[in-house]
Amino acid sequence: MRRLLVCSMMMAFLLGTGSAFAQNDITSKYRSTMIPRFVQYVQISSMSDTNAEWMTPGQEKMANVLYEEVKQFGFPTHFSQDKYIYVNIPSNLKDRQAPVLGLSAHYDTTPDIIGENIKPQVITHYDGQPIVLQNNHVIDFTSDPYLQKMVGKTIVTSDGTTNLGADDKAGVTILMTLLQTLAENPTIPHGPIQVVLTPNEDVGRSAERLDLNYYNPDYAFDFDAGVNGELITGNFSAEGVIVTAFGVNGHQSYAAENGYRNSADPIALITKKVARKRNLPNYSTGREGYIEPHHFEYNPKENTHSVDFRLRYFNQKDGKRWHKRLERAAQRAADKFGVEIEMQITKQYENVAYGVKPEAYNLLIQATQEAGVTPNPKEERAGTTSAMIMAKHGFGGYTIFTGQNNPHAFTEWLSEEDMFKAYKVAFNLVKHTAQMNASK
Ligand SMILES: [Zn+2]
Repeated sequence: MRRLLVCSMMMAFLLGTGSAFAQNDITSKYRSTMIPRFVQYVQISSMSDTNAEWMTPGQEKMANVLYEEVKQFGFPTHFSQDKYIYVNIPSNLKDRQAPVLGLSAHYDTTPDIIGENIKPQVITHYDGQPIVLQNNHVIDFTSDPYLQKMVGKTIVTSDGTTNLGADDKAGVTILMTLLQTLAENPTIPHGPIQVVLTPNEDVGRSAERLDLNYYNPDYAFDFDAGVNGELITGNFSAEGVIVTAFGVNGHQSYAAENGYRNSADPIALITKKVARKRNLPNYSTGREGYIEPHHFEYNPKENTHSVDFRLRYFNQKDGKRWHKRLERAAQRAADKFGVEIEMQITKQYENVAYGVKPEAYNLLIQATQEAGVTPNPKEERAGTTSAMIMAKHGFGGYTIFTGQNNPHAFTEWLSEEDMFKAYKVAFNLVKHTAQMNASK
């Protein structure tokens, strides 16, 4: 009892005098704007497309809507030819230089599921009953234990005929709400802030045409993770490895004389040597990597065969080991069959942990806790914009929860409360980086 009393007195003291109170006031004011904003965004279909040269008409429309909205906030804004939207907010600190804070989200949605004509259903005061959507899709506690925490709260689902697109319209909503907050409250102290809204994340290309003149922060945070508290602090490195064997044309029957060589044998040997059973994805969990011969291609005119491996690993030592193994297998096949072999490695994701400043972790944990959220840092067997930026541009960033659940599914849903808390995390990041000193 005594302890409790002391605690509540301290709380009263903090709330009465600390700046935390004023800050909470500001963020709470914007809470009610978030669902209408989110609902507006998801109704604009903006699926990316693996086969598109770059943009899809839907993404273009979404980008234009966002750009028009962003312009009203009055910050220096750059809308690139490739439809990235950059907002560069200059520091308003008078006495010193703070580090540059970077915040990102993607406005495309996945091409893997129907994402057109999305009809969001806003459920307020959720009663805990199974949510029955069209086409027999059901969201309930069995399939979704986290839903139990949403009783009495507001959630958003699709009508079941499409996904919802909370991945990543939730992230976009969070950043747009933050921009509005900063625009309408110019006395909030902040250092330089760079915000980028990207296309094509769900086809693995959100970092591809990123312009570092507008986005190259000291601390980068991406808003694209899942539920309350989820913070992605590491990920596997991902590579596409294409190994091609060049056969020699001629008639098989006179191969001894004319030098004919087929290109299938060497590729079969390489595949057998590299992708042993224990290296396959279905034997890999946690921090174990894998290699998968994902598909083969044969070009009869050129007499070439190639195998497209998907290689995933969590640390650089493993990566080197895999590359050595691939090279050894390729050399063996070249020697045995007398053909030339070429290996092309394309890095898709790099572990963000390699490129993050050490103090970024504490910054994120503090910002999360102050939003009333228990941090749940984890490494993921996947990659988002941060991992693509790390692979292409060499700086890493953490990925923060947004309130999206079950992405890429008809049963995708959004937690209004988690989205609001993620916005508070973003606000806290602004507040805390303003108190740091830029390292020069
Ligand atoms: Zn996403």
